[in-house]
Amino acid sequence: MKRLGIMAALPQELGDLIAQMQAAGDVRTVTLGRREYYVGTAHGVAAVVTLARIGKVAAAATASALIHVFEADAIVFTGVAGGVHARVQVGDVVVADTLMQHDLDASPLFPRYEVPLLGRARFDADPALADALAAAARAFIAEEGAALGERFAVAAPRVHRGLVVSGDRFVASHDALFALRDALPDALAVEMEGAAIAQVCYEHGVPCAVVRTVSDSADAAAPASFSEFLAALAATYSSGILSRFLRAAA
Ligand code: SAH
Repeated sequence: MKRLGIMAALPQELGDLIAQMQAAGDVRTVTLGRREYYVGTAHGVAAVVTLARIGKVAAAATASALIHVFEADAIVFTGVAGGVHARVQVGDVVVADTLMQHDLDASPLFPRYEVPLLGRARFDADPALADALAAAARAFIAEEGAALGERFAVAAPRVHRGLVVSGDRFVASHDALFALRDALPDALAVEMEGAAIAQVCYEHGVPCAVVRTVSDSADAAAPASFSEFLAALAATYSSGILSRFLRAAA
């Protein structure tokens, strides 16, 4: 790996990563397309770190810049998501094995969910990167999991692997959640960026992976749960997972 692209949507989702890079040495900041890209070394790994902001277009544009302007040869996304599957709880971690856009529908011209003219709906994460993120998440929970429950109602968090779905919608109602579960029974979590990054990376042959901490259950309580989790724990999870993932990769 020459240079790893690391992205998130919101500042809390990067944890202390940029501060760590600045403490470790020179960090070059480049502004492009209204975003800042931080180029330096993160826990021993040559990296370019940026905030995409929210949604699929933002994520795709940022992934494209990481590949073409900053020469990232792999991309990792870290952030929060809504739990969709009944066994996925707030405080759990979901590492994507595959990703798809739940709101893409050009039927009847193309099968529902399929990216028109690309001939596929699902995009795989890189297995080695996903394995490494899952190992980092398990280590984080084993070493710091007990302390998490003291700050938020998180009990015995678990790491899941499987389908993560993305769309330009904050899913926050019983009806929307159950519609998702019915349509995509294997979906573990819902968010707003991952599948867009996976598609761009697929098109350019760049390995990518997505790790998501579950901030809410994508139901009517989601807005409050999301905001509280973002403020209380999102940075702790991201810092804990990324630091272990990067040190193992260095
Ligand atoms: N109101 C918030 C925006 C939240 S958008 C603000 O002003 O900052 C939610 C973000 O977290 C997205 O980046 C998405 O990827 C993720 N996310 C968390 N829970 C989600 C849910 N239930 N549905 C969709 N995305 C969710």
